[in-house]
Amino acid sequence: RRAEIHERHQETAEAVVPEQRGCYIGGEWVESDSGETFETRDPTTGDVLAELPSGNAADIDRAVAAAEDAFVDWGDASPSKRQRTLETIADRIRSERTAFARLETLDNGKPINEARADVHLAAEHFRYFAGITRATEGETVPTDGSRRVTTIKEPYGVVGAIIPWNFPLLMAAWKLAPAIAAGNTVVLKPAEQTPLSVLKLMAEIDDVLPDGVINVVTGFGSDAGEPLTTHPDVRKLAFTGSTAIGKQVMKNAAENVTDVTLELGGKNPIVIYPDADLDRAVQTTIFAIFYNTGECCTAGSRLFIHEDIEEEFLNQLATAAEGLTIDDPLLDSTRLGPKVSEEQRERTLGYLDAAREAGASMLTGGGVPDDEALADGCFVTPTIVRDLDHDHPAVQEEIFGPVLEVFSWNEYDDMIELANDVEYGLAAGVVTSDIDQAHRTAADLEAGTIWVNQYNDFPTGMPFGGYKQSGIGRERAQETIEHYTQTKSIDISVR
Ligand code: NAD
Repeated sequence: RRAEIHERHQETAEAVVPEQRGCYIGGEWVESDSGETFETRDPTTGDVLAELPSGNAADIDRAVAAAEDAFVDWGDASPSKRQRTLETIADRIRSERTAFARLETLDNGKPINEARADVHLAAEHFRYFAGITRATEGETVPTDGSRRVTTIKEPYGVVGAIIPWNFPLLMAAWKLAPAIAAGNTVVLKPAEQTPLSVLKLMAEIDDVLPDGVINVVTGFGSDAGEPLTTHPDVRKLAFTGSTAIGKQVMKNAAENVTDVTLELGGKNPIVIYPDADLDRAVQTTIFAIFYNTGECCTAGSRLFIHEDIEEEFLNQLATAAEGLTIDDPLLDSTRLGPKVSEEQRERTLGYLDAAREAGASMLTGGGVPDDEALADGCFVTPTIVRDLDHDHPAVQEEIFGPVLEVFSWNEYDDMIELANDVEYGLAAGVVTSDIDQAHRTAADLEAGTIWVNQYNDFPTGMPFGGYKQSGIGRERAQETIEHYTQTKSIDISVR
């Protein structure tokens, strides 16, 4: 099986790794200014997938200049032209969906079924914002008869977008679609671990987009990301990633008074009531924590189970977790792939060691799979942790792996206090058959999204973003366009 996995990945890489591998600036594929490169690896096999330019401040300068040039026409383009362009991008993603999904699985390690869902959502995202281009309207402000006051929504100009590695194509879509729908042009820096699907996207839409409307600079955060956040000609910044880097981005944005939206980490609670349907509660929890191998900012990683059903529920949950297939993520049957990189696996295992040292017990999992065929990959077993204090770093910090921490509850107020006792506030889940309880709990939990009797559901158009240190702004929705436009008031004297 080990050899089979390598062979399958090599064949897939030959078929889907894009030939164009430069930075994409002003519609051209170019080397980095320094000539330096870096490698992106397949986390299932450890093999190198591609060597790419390691961008720096000079490349960011070139890309911002190209985006400024392109803004002259794109900022002035009719909404119908922008709409048609976004629709064509959606069509191109759809027609290449099989290759996009396989490429995403190679570069990130996510199970192929989940990669397919990402690709579908990315296309839908462009389609949604294609529609929004025609629905973005200014206002007429009531005044006395001496003047006419109207407002228009104008694009900012050049948007700097920085994205993480957990949903590479989808996060690119979340930034690009609203930015260009509103008439902005973009410089995008993908994560160094997973740059390939964004490069494929640019290759697929090269003939659709005017040169310079979207530019991509590959490379590391400190070399290519940071100069984007300090560039004085970037008028708006959009960042998804860790809270620590998000704070840095916000500080840099302040230097130039640049508008900024941030989608940061989460340490999200799931609350289970004793009246919950047990099967549904188990499946909701499994999906909440193990989807995308736990590499979700929304991962439901702190479980609050009512003590009346604790033992029965946890038995079923552990059985379900042990039943998840960990294997080559290119196989349809796989439910858990590898972590994105060795560094991220070590980080997850480090949290598990610290939890053990603090006296925690593992209900299931807690290490790497005992399967020789997977020995080259960055795999971690689905893990359920008990007996850990809520103030332990493994509970307070985002692990970003397949690790669930369990707490039992009986007093509502105490449970809510603990559920809210983290610096994050991205998402939360509630499982109950009592609608009053669902509403009450949704009202009391401090989070930007509350899922009831389901989890990780993302219908297009549902606003998404964080409370507290999980971020600023809302993506995916009508109001998102507000983050990519500025309002101009025009006050005309009519006397
Ligand atoms: P990160 O925040 O370091 O990286 C996210 C993006 O920011 C990448 O493109 C990176 O190159 C870039 N970046 C890094 N340093 C930068 C800087 N100084 N200026 C500008 N851009 C910079 O996240 P990571 O290292 O990939 O992961 C670390 C942790 O962050 C994870 O373990 C997880 O807890 C969290 N994370 C959260 C999300 C999310 O969606 N909220 C996504 C990925 C990671």
